[in-house]
Amino acid sequence: MHFAPDTETTLEFVVALANTHPTASRTGDDEIATPQQLTALLVEHRYSGRFDRDERELREVQETRDLLREIWALDRDQAVEAVNRMLDDAHALPHLVRHDEFDWHLHATPPDAPLSERIRVEAALALVDVIRTAETDRMRVCDADDCTGILVDLSRNGSKRFCSVRCGNRMNQLAHRARQQE
Ligand SMILES: [Zn+2]
Ligand SMILES: [Zn+2]
Repeated sequence: MHFAPDTETTLEFVVALANTHPTASRTGDDEIATPQQLTALLVEHRYSGRFDRDERELREVQETRDLLREIWALDRDQAVEAVNRMLDDAHALPHLVRHDEFDWHLHATPPDAPLSERIRVEAALALVDVIRTAETDRMRVCDADDCTGILVDLSRNGSKRFCSVRCGNRMNQLAHRARQQE
């Protein structure tokens, strides 16, 4: 399964952002609990544009994280509503841009729009691709017990079930132990 490169980059960022939630993170803590942690995530994903690095921006991004996590649980038609709403709310206007090391790709908000709005619009543009190619079943919630992590399965055979190697190993060990006890 291949989407446009900017779509895949965005989907990977959305998953990484969503999985900073305490019910999905490796540490069990909110991994964007401070503006510094958010900055580190953005730097890691080479996010461009305006960063305020303040508490308000952090809170808005945390709220956006919740919104995006909810979209993963929706069916295709419901996801359409959520995506259209995000595009409407931001008055999104798609245009092609080229910056830093990134070749032509879509932006639909000015670079000085608030970070949370840019994240929502970018996510919406990526989800537009997933929805119109009828691939929303590639957007999954992690199969591991006690994990609300999300994933997007970009593999060829579409068999990815866990948000992380950690969850996969954990569930494999449980299955292994259960077999031994039989
Ligand atoms: Zn860009
Ligand atoms: Zn997981």
